[in-house]
Amino acid sequence: MPTLSPAGRVPAGRATRSPLRQYRFLLGAGGALVVMLGLLYGADPAGELGEASGRVGIAVAAGVLVGLTFVSEWVRRNAIGFVYGFFLAVSAWQIWLAHANALSPPTAFGLILVFIGCSAGFQTVRALVLYSAGFVAAATAMTLRLPDPGVPTEVFLPTLAALALLGGVLFRMRAQVLDSLDAARRDALAAAQAKSGFLATMSHEIRTPLNGVIGMTDVLATTDLSPEQREALATIRASGDALLGVIADILDFSKIEAGHVELEHQPVCLRALVEDTVAVVALDAARRGVETVGHVRPGVPVVVGDATRLRQILLNLLSNAVKFTPAGEVVTSVSASLRGTTVDLQIDVSDTGIGIPADRLERLFEPFVQVDASTTRRYGGTGLGLAISRRLAEQMGGRLWAESELGTGSTFHVTLSLPVARRASDAPPAPEPFGDGRTVLVVDDSAAAAEVVADLAREAGFAAHVARSVEDALAFLDGGGRYAVAVVDHDIGGVPALEAVRRLRAHAAGADRPIAVTSPIGALVRASLAVDGVVPRPVRAEGFRATVREIVGTGAHRTEPAASNAPVPLLEGLRVL
Ligand code: ADP
Repeated sequence: MPTLSPAGRVPAGRATRSPLRQYRFLLGAGGALVVMLGLLYGADPAGELGEASGRVGIAVAAGVLVGLTFVSEWVRRNAIGFVYGFFLAVSAWQIWLAHANALSPPTAFGLILVFIGCSAGFQTVRALVLYSAGFVAAATAMTLRLPDPGVPTEVFLPTLAALALLGGVLFRMRAQVLDSLDAARRDALAAAQAKSGFLATMSHEIRTPLNGVIGMTDVLATTDLSPEQREALATIRASGDALLGVIADILDFSKIEAGHVELEHQPVCLRALVEDTVAVVALDAARRGVETVGHVRPGVPVVVGDATRLRQILLNLLSNAVKFTPAGEVVTSVSASLRGTTVDLQIDVSDTGIGIPADRLERLFEPFVQVDASTTRRYGGTGLGLAISRRLAEQMGGRLWAESELGTGSTFHVTLSLPVARRASDAPPAPEPFGDGRTVLVVDDSAAAAEVVADLAREAGFAAHVARSVEDALAFLDGGGRYAVAVVDHDIGGVPALEAVRRLRAHAAGADRPIAVTSPIGALVRASLAVDGVVPRPVRAEGFRATVREIVGTGAHRTEPAASNAPVPLLEGLRVL
């Protein structure tokens, strides 16, 4: 099973700690150090406890304190009384120790440090005042009862009182800062919500009449129109559709910003999702001579997630990839690595397009940012798609980033961890007894497309051999290779499928073997003419299986052309002798 490359998953410089975590860590470590110092000084080995028990006490207390620091957020929210109780216990223990050691200088110092450390942990003025008053009173009573304190009373008590006062003042300052931050946050949230509420209402108000306009273009198109009128109507229609897209993007973005997007948790079959989404852009891409491939690797399970939002991310990445790729291919691949009941998914959309300059790469994920001003003019778009996609991926607990080389192409990566709904079946179905070979010969000049067919063949219980050219395929046969069925690309590096089929059949080892051709929907070669089956391209699992089943089912391939009434687009204009 393919695993995710760590290098691919975490791009450099992204794994920084959040300031809040750093702050908590420093506060926790500092607090623990202060209290630990107090305990160290307080546990005078010459006192009542004796050396060993004193050290054990210190170790346990320090361990608990440091542990508490890391769960302090949880403890603070759930059981603040528990923390306060702990502070009181430590303080009481320290006062008792100081008393047992007749307020020796180390225990007096320890007492002061414990007082400072614990005071910093109180959350409300009331709690702090009560604690300080109690502590000062108890320490005073303890000191006054000592006949001969190690630290003179007139030094110790004023110091303690001054510290209590200082703690109160600092606490007030902190509370004021926190209050003002809170107020600023509330204001910002209210403003953002008002903005998104406004946008949501406005976009609804704009969409309704716009749909009316677009609907009327359909009605008008059915009437008698002059060529100029028809052209004008097409422009109105295209502009209306574009505007609708922009409004949908803005609405989506403001919804996400305002935190109004609720994710669904339903079983999602990634293979169907990827195949369907690739199919949406495939026709447009094929028209421009760009190949599209959807490759869901074996072992990708059915996951629990939000299919609509996943499709939205994928469709956005795919539309961009097709839009910015004048020639070559756009490959979507999904791989998975299982971790118990969850799965780490890596979805990559790579293209051989115009690429993105390195210094613009990260900024493209900000709203309304495009590579440069000429992008909108040439390609259209709002610059919102990537911002929406990244936020959606993050909301699903995943990440989205890009790598690109100018002039060579771009790859957009999405990583997600999702619960597994159903594992992919581990054992492939038993191979159908077929022909004299168990191998599917894949003849395709696109490595990605060939890999899809090879994987599907293996899933169906066959072995697979990939040839990247007709010459490769013939060399395989020359070398003694045999195949149960050949799956041939409709155009292998400029060689049309029918020519490739002819050459395979001309070889002694291929003369009586069945052949299927993979062909874009717009240019289907009819199976009836020279081949035994046609698989629509981009290849989908179901299309492949159905064709192979048909070939296997008939048991023998057709060597004679059968009659067919279906249109033969590729052969239009040719005469049959
Ligand atoms: P839009 O496509 O509406 O402009 P996006 O946020 O989806 O908005 O994309 C922002 C910009 O990122 C695009 O305008 C384009 O400049 C750049 N971009 C996105 N995907 C690609 C890609 N595959 N190849 C080259 N440039 C891309």
